[in-house]
Amino acid sequence: MHCPFCRHPDSRVVDSRTSDDGASIRRRRQCPSCNRRFTTVETASLSVVKRSGATEPFSREKIATGVRKACQGRPVSEDDLALLAQKVEETLRSAGSAEIDAYEIGLAILGPLRDLDEVAYLRFASVYQAFDSLDDFESAIAVLRAEREDAERTPSPEEPGRG
Ligand SMILES: [Zn+2]
Repeated sequence: MHCPFCRHPDSRVVDSRTSDDGASIRRRRQCPSCNRRFTTVETASLSVVKRSGATEPFSREKIATGVRKACQGRPVSEDDLALLAQKVEETLRSAGSAEIDAYEIGLAILGPLRDLDEVAYLRFASVYQAFDSLDDFESAIAVLRAEREDAERTPSPEEPGRG
């Protein structure tokens, strides 16, 4: 990487640190020619392929914005949304692909959103999966109920007071 000040074709890394979430590395570099310092940020590229075929960089903020609408009036905080967006990004990155369909993002949102708030999950799923009748809601709710009953049969040790 060349120096942005004098365009010397080489630079030396003087410091390198990973961001808290592990998604990027910041490198402090020094130019051996003019001795000025600059910073580069390295991230694995992750692009979203939209329905139109256009691509755009993955954005946690967009995930949070999309989910925030489904969470209106629900006890979901901005921290919850940020954590959900982080989980979604981790899921997508662990798939190892540099390009992901917008549809896959919706899928990756459904799991953590269901854990967060079932009402918000149903709202989001109804838009994302294009529910067009009460039957669609009923079957989604039936799945939630069945899974909740499974969970109650084997109570989690973190919730000893339950039941
Ligand atoms: Zn330089």
